[in-house]
Amino acid sequence: MSRVTNPGDREILAALTEGQFRGWSCTWCSEELDGAAEEVRRLEVYRGAHYVGTTLWACSRCLKAARTKHPPGQPSKDGAPT
Ligand SMILES: [Zn+2]
Repeated sequence: MSRVTNPGDREILAALTEGQFRGWSCTWCSEELDGAAEEVRRLEVYRGAHYVGTTLWACSRCLKAARTKHPPGQPSKDGAPT
């Protein structure tokens, strides 16, 4: 397991709301997650040896939209919030 910060992930992390950081809110629409929410991906951000990143989540509404067309909020392809 490498401890390497992805510079893009550091920027995404800095832009997250508290709810998104804690895994309460959708990465794309910021709404509270529902029971069908799914992990999008993990942000690789380290401070020294410590992992300080988080996992991005998306609600079922955005996931459904993403699988048919562009979800609301037009997230970038790597899951970054806008
Ligand atoms: Zn959403």
